[in-house]
Amino acid sequence: MQTLGNHILGNYINGQHIASHSGRSQSVFNPATGEAQAQVSLATADETRDAIAAAATAFQSWSQVTPLNRSRVMFKFKALLEQHRDELALLITKEHGKVFSDAQGELTRGIEVVEFACGIPHLLKGEHSMNVGRGVDSYSLMQPLGVCAGISPFNFPAMVPLWMFPIALACGNSFVMKPSEKDPTVPLKLAELLTEAGLPAGVFNVVNGDKEAVDVLLTDSRVQAVSFVGSTPIAEYVYATGSAHGKRVQALGGAKNHMLVMPDADLEQVTSALMGAAYGSAGERCMAISVALCVGDEVADALIAQLQQEISTLKVGPGTGVSPEPHMGPLISRQHADKVLSYINAGVAEGATLVADGRNFVVSQHQQGYFVGPTLFDKVSPDMSIYREEIFGPVLAVVRVPSFVEGLALINQHEFGNGTAIFTGSGEAAREFTAQVQVGMVGVNVPIPVPMAFHSFGGWKRSVFGPLNMHGPDGVRFYTRMKTITARWPNGQAQGNQFSMPTMK
Ligand code: NAD
Repeated sequence: MQTLGNHILGNYINGQHIASHSGRSQSVFNPATGEAQAQVSLATADETRDAIAAAATAFQSWSQVTPLNRSRVMFKFKALLEQHRDELALLITKEHGKVFSDAQGELTRGIEVVEFACGIPHLLKGEHSMNVGRGVDSYSLMQPLGVCAGISPFNFPAMVPLWMFPIALACGNSFVMKPSEKDPTVPLKLAELLTEAGLPAGVFNVVNGDKEAVDVLLTDSRVQAVSFVGSTPIAEYVYATGSAHGKRVQALGGAKNHMLVMPDADLEQVTSALMGAAYGSAGERCMAISVALCVGDEVADALIAQLQQEISTLKVGPGTGVSPEPHMGPLISRQHADKVLSYINAGVAEGATLVADGRNFVVSQHQQGYFVGPTLFDKVSPDMSIYREEIFGPVLAVVRVPSFVEGLALINQHEFGNGTAIFTGSGEAAREFTAQVQVGMVGVNVPIPVPMAFHSFGGWKRSVFGPLNMHGPDGVRFYTRMKTITARWPNGQAQGNQFSMPTMK
């Protein structure tokens, strides 16, 4: 990979780095130290249109490349991602803050989508029916849409873009990616690797920017489809605006994921699952568990005692350069850390019991880092803001419920429906839970049930806008348009006019 040379990050258009002339930029911080390590330019509307124009031109020839040859570019891209995995993971850690092994895991999950996209010749085979009528055959073509756009959040700077563009490109589309301005380096590196893998110039472009760039992607008539992942208010805006401009939109939003802990659950297993699911990546995961619903006081008391013990040994620190590696790193920004701290203050003011307090948490030699310690609340009630709202930090709320039925009802009443899990030894409870719960991704004794790349990822309720989810079969459907041909060869052309509804004979 070439280095970017200087520390002003611009755009990647038509196969090369292009400096932005917007005059607007913001700092990219190392969250573990609080130091600004680069500047990212925020693209103008015209620069965004340049990227769309490059993608529109490149689409003409890329869409004619055979699926087999498009898949071969993906195979090379996958090999390059594996070759540069650690280098990319280090960049993620330096800009996002998550610990190095977690960043490696993020890349692995992203590479799995590229592996799925390598199978595109098989996935685009479509349907065929012979003799739908006498001498008449019907078949479907799955054709690319044109220019597609992706807008991604800060918390997975590699994986979320990789949910989107490998499938879009393999299907024959061209792409404009607008990554989070908080950690923009890795998407630019992905663009370089695609070029190295043989992707023609202009097929994949990166525009770094903010609302100004996003609004162009949502309204420019050359963009056919928009994939978005981020917070719910922006997801709703992107869905409404993109749809109003005639685009196909998939927009994934925020979450508040509950784990229902039944009295017959293995509490040691629950404790270790909750530690990873609540505090891994400092809680900045849309599939993090932020609420543990304990059925009965006995379960709650025992779980709290075990969690308290584990939290006292949890190591917080910079994601790289320390051995052994800490379990959890800093939050993305000073502003976000302050928001998380204000939620902890709100929980105390609202009357929840603060069992572990992550406030005033200092990591030695990293006083300027954006660290918040692992926080645990007991006796949280559904009217509290720390229950209702997404905190996106290392804050776990324990809610005590009298029964399975009340626990399930709470999950179903919540505005979000991204992920959930039940921990139980009862097949009956698990079966009832999976059938009745109003959530898109459900774990049974699995705390973070993220579907693999060959399944589709997406929530329910206000965690998603649009009918088609990310990657897997939905990803292929989202990035293709179906055309159905009905053909008769070679006779029977001149049968006279037919004015009634055609039916096959
Ligand atoms: P965000 O909504 O602030 O930003 C997401 C993207 O939208 C960024 O690229 C940003 O530049 C852009 N954006 C921000 N404000 C905008 C505006 N006013 N107009 C147009 N574009 C705008 O989200 P974030 O803070 O980067 O990410 C965290 C959020 O993402 C959390 O809510 C988390 O749950 C969610 N998330 C969801 C999933 C999922 O699969 N459902 C996955 C990861 C993250």
